[in-house]
Amino acid sequence: MPKRRRKHQSTSTSDVVGEDDVLLRATAPLQLCYYGNPVLRKRAKPVAEITEAERQLADQMLETLYATGNGIGLAATQVGILKRLIIIDIGEDDDETYEPLVLFNPEILNVEGEVVVEEACLSIPSVTAEVRRPEKVVVDGIDIQGEPVRIEADGLLARVLQHEIDHLNGVLFIDRISGLKRQLLKDELLWIQQAERPS
Ligand code: ZN
Repeated sequence: MPKRRRKHQSTSTSDVVGEDDVLLRATAPLQLCYYGNPVLRKRAKPVAEITEAERQLADQMLETLYATGNGIGLAATQVGILKRLIIIDIGEDDDETYEPLVLFNPEILNVEGEVVVEEACLSIPSVTAEVRRPEKVVVDGIDIQGEPVRIEADGLLARVLQHEIDHLNGVLFIDRISGLKRQLLKDELLWIQQAERPS
């Protein structure tokens, strides 16, 4: 999910040293998949074990996110990899600074409240819409070390978690707005869809 202007600092792999560092920095950002690409409609598979390959994918996804300049979250589905992995870096929200978050097999356990917030998506450039979602969420998952984690989130983090978990189920934010509103976005969506098609 993009749409938050933040000062870009490429620090995603700064804590990685040695050979891995060279390897990770040598990899370019991954190719984003755009609306119209059928992969965005597929359900991603759970990750059975967090291996070095998974950790590297998470790092590459963070790098890809930072390369967008305004992205705050990315699901593996959006880079064409059907693994249940999301990465989030919202930077600051409500005067709090958040660390980058890497979450495998995220599961929403509990939701509370309801709030309407404008959303956007790196896979659907230039399209925004107000989306109604629960205000707070409790999410279980596995962190980059392979340890189980539970996240209780509200505000922007709760929003991004839900948006990215949707991606793992083949759901886009535009599926959560009314048909009438989607109709208004028809031309933009068609344009992205046609641009995505190989010529
Ligand atoms: Zn998205």
